[in-house]
Amino acid sequence: MMYDVLIIGAGPGGYVCAIKAAQLGLKVACVESRKTLGGTCLNVGCIPSKTLLEFSEKYYSSKHLIEEGILSGNVACNFPKLMEKKSSIISQLTGGISMLFKKNKVTHIQGFASFKDKNTIVITKEDGSKEEVQSKNFVIATGSEVTPLPNVQIDEEKIISSTGALELKSVPNKMVVIGAGVIGLELGSVYNRLGSQVEVIEFLPKITPTMDGEISQNFKKILEKQGLKFTMESKVVGVEKTSKGVVVNVESVKDGVKASIEADVCLVAIGRRAFTNGLGLDIAGVQINQRGIVEVNAKFQTNVPNIYAIGDVIPGPMLAHKAEDEGVAVAEILAGKYGHVNYGIIPSVVYTHPEVASVGKTEEELKVENIEYKVGKFNMMANSRAKAVDDTEGFVKILACKKTDKILGCHIISRGAGDIIHEIAVGMEFFASAEDIARTCHAHPTLNEAIKEAAMAVDKSQIHS
Ligand SMILES: Cc1cc2nc3c(=O)[nH]c(=O)nc-3n(C[C@H](O)[C@H](O)[C@H](O)COP(=O)(O)OP(=O)(O)OC[C@H]3O[C@@H](n4cnc5c(N)ncnc54)[C@H](O)[C@@H]3O)c2cc1C
Repeated sequence: MMYDVLIIGAGPGGYVCAIKAAQLGLKVACVESRKTLGGTCLNVGCIPSKTLLEFSEKYYSSKHLIEEGILSGNVACNFPKLMEKKSSIISQLTGGISMLFKKNKVTHIQGFASFKDKNTIVITKEDGSKEEVQSKNFVIATGSEVTPLPNVQIDEEKIISSTGALELKSVPNKMVVIGAGVIGLELGSVYNRLGSQVEVIEFLPKITPTMDGEISQNFKKILEKQGLKFTMESKVVGVEKTSKGVVVNVESVKDGVKASIEADVCLVAIGRRAFTNGLGLDIAGVQINQRGIVEVNAKFQTNVPNIYAIGDVIPGPMLAHKAEDEGVAVAEILAGKYGHVNYGIIPSVVYTHPEVASVGKTEEELKVENIEYKVGKFNMMANSRAKAVDDTEGFVKILACKKTDKILGCHIISRGAGDIIHEIAVGMEFFASAEDIARTCHAHPTLNEAIKEAAMAVDKSQIHS
């Protein structure tokens, strides 16, 4: 059987591409080495981390309501039960994708794919048997893996990656997190809320370094208030396992002063890197760059014209929704339509509490690009919904072009920031000006009213501050 397109990897890039291509009338197969579909995102990424964030936040806020006297009684977290809940949610979602594959007539092949030539892959099944499959086109959607730290051996028990942090058997007394990026801060927050003492070691002077500077600074203060400890501008030179746990050896970047931190577990969260091991890219003639990333043109084609690539394995932010949009775009291109991703408007969210969300340019980027801009800010303290639910931390910041008033970026720290940011993402897709948002009637009392007020503040016409 010759497929029109065979997709390697069933993460959010691959499975979405497969469904879309089948919907557009192509004969589609998707090969996945995991037993379940959904890739990193559903199995060991976005979804399990969000389940732990949600339920740990519920526990944390219940404890506070008891302290305030609004609730009474005792509250304790049944950690194994929480982990069971997480596994059950993963099963429901991964099973849902299997059903979508059946509904859309996508052939699902379980096994590990490796190119034999530019039209053939060999799939190695779990029992060791091999199958050759041919296709006119291929989409590489093999995603990413944890970036290892030199001299640090992850064992997923005491020295863990994000995958191990989602599978711990008990809440550690002390956790050291290496890396103040999104994954480290989200998982650090989970265990901080559940009672761990969490210390984050970061090489750079700033947490979440690509974030707008003002937002990043405020975010750090909020996390510190919640109990996370930060050791900045320090590099981890080694992690030793002991009978009790681990000793993390740290060296200051500024003055070389050394320190050792004892903990029960150490989470290595310094980032992720493209995964193409064993795929036989050299055999198919597909080039990767020095960082192991598959380079593609505007149509997602690699240097081999019938082999395409999407998601974490190609350049750009490693985000599930970016991978999904690329999956749709490449399916459309393969079906003879026009597929496109607007990389200037990809929202990104940190699902801590409060959440941090952003879309478009940061102030730092606008300065580097010499673009004159106006800033409108609104503090959540003055938003009546935030006040009504007693959750007023954070602010909204809108950046608009000084000449045209067109919105260039938006950065939010707030409860629900990850949801409310989309008002601006949609606005930016339609070239909205700050005044367009300011003159749109917003329901009261909602968190989105803070967006309206920030848009008004761009021209200093806000009402509530
Ligand atoms: C802890 C954590 C939390 C995250 N949270 C978020 C979040 O909240 N929001 C967000 O947008 N992103 C989040 N991400 C990132 C997100 O998971 C990735 O950006 C996304 O999964 C990338 O999708 P993908 O389809 O490119 O690859 P992946 O999801 O990595 O899927 C690739 C699949 O390909 C399979 N595969 C690889 N090689 C082969 C082969 N040769 N043959 C067959 N199969 C193969 C792999 O088994 C895998 O299932 C998180 C990641 C982690 C680790």
